Amino acid sequence: MERIEVDVAVIGAGTAGLNARREVERRGGRALLIESSAYGTTCARVGCMPSKLLIAAAEAAHSIASAPAFGVHAGDVRIDGPAVMQRVQRERDRFVGFVVADTEKIEAAERRFGHARFVGPTRLVLDDRVEVAARAVVVASGSTPFVPAPLDAVRADVLTSDDVFELSDLPSSLAVIGTGVIALELGQAMHRLGVRTAFFSPFHELGPMTDPEVVNIVRRDLGAELELHTGARILEAQPVAGGMRLRWLTDSGESRSETFARVLVAAGRRPAVEGLGLEATGLALKPNGLPDIDLQTMQCGAAPVFFAGDVSGHLPLLHEAADEGRIAGANAMLWPNVERHERRVPLAIAFTDPQMAMVGVRHADLPPGGHAIGAASFDDQGRARVAGRNRGLVRVYGEIESCRLLGAELFGPGMEHMAHLLAWAVQQRMTVNAALAMPFYHPVLEEGLRTALRDLARALRAEGGCRPEDMAEAPGA
Ligand SMILES: Cc1cc2nc3c(=O)[nH]c(=O)nc-3n(C[C@H](O)[C@H](O)[C@H](O)COP(=O)(O)OP(=O)(O)OC[C@H]3O[C@@H](n4cnc5c(N)ncnc54)[C@H](O)[C@@H]3O)c2cc1C
Repeated sequence: MERIEVDVAVIGAGTAGLNARREVERRGGRALLIESSAYGTTCARVGCMPSKLLIAAAEAAHSIASAPAFGVHAGDVRIDGPAVMQRVQRERDRFVGFVVADTEKIEAAERRFGHARFVGPTRLVLDDRVEVAARAVVVASGSTPFVPAPLDAVRADVLTSDDVFELSDLPSSLAVIGTGVIALELGQAMHRLGVRTAFFSPFHELGPMTDPEVVNIVRRDLGAELELHTGARILEAQPVAGGMRLRWLTDSGESRSETFARVLVAAGRRPAVEGLGLEATGLALKPNGLPDIDLQTMQCGAAPVFFAGDVSGHLPLLHEAADEGRIAGANAMLWPNVERHERRVPLAIAFTDPQMAMVGVRHADLPPGGHAIGAASFDDQGRARVAGRNRGLVRVYGEIESCRLLGAELFGPGMEHMAHLLAWAVQQRMTVNAALAMPFYHPVLEEGLRTALRDLARALRAEGGCRPEDMAEAPGA
């Protein structure tokens, strides 16, 4: 068996692994980047980018379908399924190509293909061919789609986000299993591209929101557009001519069945730890198969083993994977003198329409008694109404003692941008009044955010400390 000795072995050439490797190199260390599948990363191949490409096609279709409300008539909308999928694949391949080219620039001796498995605390074997002895290991093996029973029994016949972007045409009908972010993003896009789409979930949640008032508006708006079977239990999935027959129990206990051309399972993702042989590290493993990970060092206990990216089970998002990769790579080099890193303010966005976003402290995690809430509906927000996109609700949270912004849950048009403004303000430890002292143009969607901030300032003032805020008004704000 070939034997390789390195400073840091990095398992996984995804976003986290690539960032970890770069950090090792920057610090003068020798890393070995190990990949079991293909270069290109989950984000570019089957994640962020192809999903946004599909959504872009859906947005084009939706704006034509909504045009008559403005007195604009484009005639019958015809969706060319193969052309939609070809563009998704063509552009996706372009993004993947850049990542692959960058990864292949790494010295050939410093990267290997193979499935890595621990055979000791910092010793790995790759496909029983190569043994790697490292001073430290970064586990950046990502996550895999979770396929619940009874769909697992027909796994070969269902789609997950790993293969949906490979379709050569749009299906005539689609059952989406799940109502989380990936399910809603992909399912709403399919629906707007003319695919008869139905969603199934045993739960009642839609997306990631925890603020009950925002959740109600999400349910009202998405429920008005999409066929949602929440509280439904799938009993059976059977491949039949023309697709897959699903049998399910509705929320009220009735048994129903229907055949869908395709089934997309988007019921969440799980850290990819299977087959990693983590037992050989000697680390105590929790029931989910993960060791305890310090999110400021990415270290597992005191061991020279670091987790980064989706596999950490923290926030399965691209920018978090990049950050965790950098922290893990740096600390793998510094071990045992690891450094603690301040993490960025949490920021998560769902590219549904309207968009959902969460910033800073979630509603569910607000300190009891220590916070106030400001809200603004987007149902009549001036600029949103101009564009015929006036739907949604923004709720912002502030700390009573300091008047600082704590976080927000947002549902409405353009929330990807407002979530950034808020995340930057929260990370800068801005007070609500300091945020209100910033300029707001007119007429823009951000004026809706200002309404919520003013409401929060009023609520905080009612509780004590805050100074009077700028109350200047603009028409339609
Ligand atoms: C449909 C979809 C849409 C998404 N949209 C967004 C979005 O809009 N914004 C956002 O921020 N995030 C989004 N994400 C999440 C984002 O893609 C992930 O958080 C990110 O790609 C995780 O990067 P990673 O480095 O942890 O994992 P990956 O990029 O998956 O890398 C892990 C690598 O490890 C390899 N590997 C696994 N096990 C082994 C082993 N034993 N040996 C060797 N190699 C191994 C895998 O083959 C893989 O290449 C989306 C995800 C999906 C699925």
